[in-house]
Formats: sequence, C-alpha cells, structure tokens
Amino acid sequence: MTPLAQILVQRIRATGPITLADYMEICLLHPRLGYYTTRDPFGTRGDFTTAPEITQIFGELCGLALAQAWMDQGRPEPFTLAEPGPGRGTLMADMLRAMGAVPGMTQAARVTLVEASPHLRQVQRDRLGDVSHVDHVEALPRQPLFLIANEFFDALPIRQFQRVENGWAERVVGLGQDGLCLGLAPPVDLPRRGQLGDIVEDCPAAPAIIAQIAHRIAAHGGAAIVIDYGGWNGCGDTFQAVRAHRAEHPLASPGEADLTAHVDFAPLAVAAMRSGAMVSRPVPQGDWLLSLGAAARAERLARAGDTGAKEAVRRLTDPSEMGHLFKAMAIWPHGAPPVPGFDALRLHADNA
Ligand code: SAH
Repeated sequence: MTPLAQILVQRIRATGPITLADYMEICLLHPRLGYYTTRDPFGTRGDFTTAPEITQIFGELCGLALAQAWMDQGRPEPFTLAEPGPGRGTLMADMLRAMGAVPGMTQAARVTLVEASPHLRQVQRDRLGDVSHVDHVEALPRQPLFLIANEFFDALPIRQFQRVENGWAERVVGLGQDGLCLGLAPPVDLPRRGQLGDIVEDCPAAPAIIAQIAHRIAAHGGAAIVIDYGGWNGCGDTFQAVRAHRAEHPLASPGEADLTAHVDFAPLAVAAMRSGAMVSRPVPQGDWLLSLGAAARAERLARAGDTGAKEAVRRLTDPSEMGHLFKAMAIWPHGAPPVPGFDALRLHADNA
C-alpha cells in the first residue's frame, strides 16, 4: 500500500466513503504525498508526455495565435500572459520565444502562472526566471488576459454518477476486504436522462474556472486557448490512471499515478458565453495545428537539422495519435476577430 493509500484508508474508516473528486484532489495535490506535489512526472522517463514536451512547434504556434489576437486587439499594455498548470514551463518558454518576434509584446507581458504544486513552481522558476505564481485563476489581475491551458482541465477533480433503478448513485471510494474499492452512494435525483448502468461525469470546477477567465476577457480584452482530450457532451466513464506510460486502475497506487478524466467542452462553452465572451467550437488539435502551418514549420526545422520535427508533428496531428482525441477551444471578446484557427460557436438558446 502506498503511504497515501494508508492515509485514505484511515480517513474512510473514520468518516466514511469519499467522492471521486475528493479522491482525485487528495491523490494529486496532498501537501506531502500528492502526485504533482512531489514530482516532475513528464517525459519518457516520467509517467506521461504532453504536446509541448514532444516539440517546440506546439508552443510556438500557440504563442503566435495569441500574438495575433494581441495585435488584433490594439496591442494592450500591460497585459497578463497566463498559464494554469504549466508543468515544466516548456510551453510558456516556447510561446515567449515566438512572441519575441512581435515588437513590444514580451515587454508588455506580465507572466503569471497558476500552479498548485510547490515542486513544479520551482521547476517553472528555474526554466522561466522572473514569473509570478498564483494559487487560483480568481487571483489573476483584472486587466487584458491572454491565456493558454494545455492538459490542465483534465486534472481537475470529477464526480461520477451511475444510473440505478431509482435515480443516480454517486460513485464513491470506500473500503473493501483488500483496501480501497469503488462503491455507490444512495441514489439522488439528477436532471439527466440515462439508461440503467449509464455513467455520467461532472467537473464542477471547470466551468467555474472558465467563467473567471471569460469574465476578464469580456471586460478587459484578451484571448484564451484551452487544449485537452475530450469531446462535446461527453458521456461514460473516462476516469483514468497513468503510471510509467501505462494505464492502471485509478485506485491501484494513490499518489503515484496521474489521475485524469476527459474534458467535456460543452459546459465550458456555455460558461464562457454566459460570462459575456465569444467562444469557438472545440476543433480537433490536428486540424488546428495544421491550419496554423505546423507542417511548414516542421519542414523548416527539418532543413535546419531537427531530425525529429516531422515525426513530432505527425504525433500531434495524426487522427490515430493525438490529432483527433485532443481538442482546442478559444475564447475572445465580442467585437474582436476570432483567435486564429477558430470560428465562433452559435448555440441554440435552449442549450445555453
Ligand atoms: N501544461 C503542461 C502540464 C500539464 S500537467 C504541459 O502541457 O506539459 C497538469 C499541470 O497542472 C501540472 O503543472 C499540475 O501541477 C497542475 N495542476 C493540477 N491541478 C491543479 C490545480 N487544481 N490548480 C493548479 N494547478 C494544478
């Protein structure tokens, strides 16, 4: 049993089963033993690899898309350049280098990172130098906001409900003979349709965070790009654990595996609209990167001797790899041009 599993067993024994959201939050962010609190999980020797760790092209194109939005909106100065969940700081470093080609932009940027892990904060400072950190998106300054988030929303705690005879029963973590096990809480009413056995997921933090971001963009200008795996009105069990690049049961090694769930972009889009901003539909990552010239950039890097560039772009864009499962969605203010590569989403009133 991992040290964190022992703590969870004691807590459940004392006060009863916990929701998946509590379980996820403790496993990822426990102050001493949490997954992100204690380690740098990225890269081939870590547990998983993210797009910016695969090629610099990813961050460069994200940076240039935000740079175009900044120019389109009259080069506001100063502005917040924010990233929630920046990992090793690679994406921000690549964005800043690309933005350096735009006169005045990096000078006007106040880089602010939203990071819960003290360990990763230090990794980010070592990489990026003088940046500020805040605990929550709520703490971002009220000024023009240009924001990128890659694989941040999938780490936010989710709840799951399973359709049973007389309602929806929340899936909880309790104790069985061999330690932690999944169970069902007494059913409640939910305003959702579903067939017996169906599982639905809810990530209450995600639309709340999007609302904070979209409010700032609507009031002060700016743009946000959110990239993650997931879909639209997602349904089913997507709760997953990954350790050393392999999937394992989410209860197998608390604190030592990455826990995530697919991102449902529909409630995020609704939250952005309700906050008064424009939002795009989620575009497959492959389509978005190729529309911004990823292939031409790989070609240039290959000519300059980067032997891995073309293969890296293939990994990010091929539908059978990361190109289709990952989606990109953008937020921008009414009256401003869309962020490059995105079109405005129009929802029927009954959806919004
Ligand atoms: N964007 C990076 C890393 C993604 S991993 C990349 O693409 O490589 C998720 C990141 O979010 C980590 O930096 C993790 O510490 C951070 N994180 C997870 N939950 C968080 C929370 N609730 N608040 C702030 N940061 C969080």
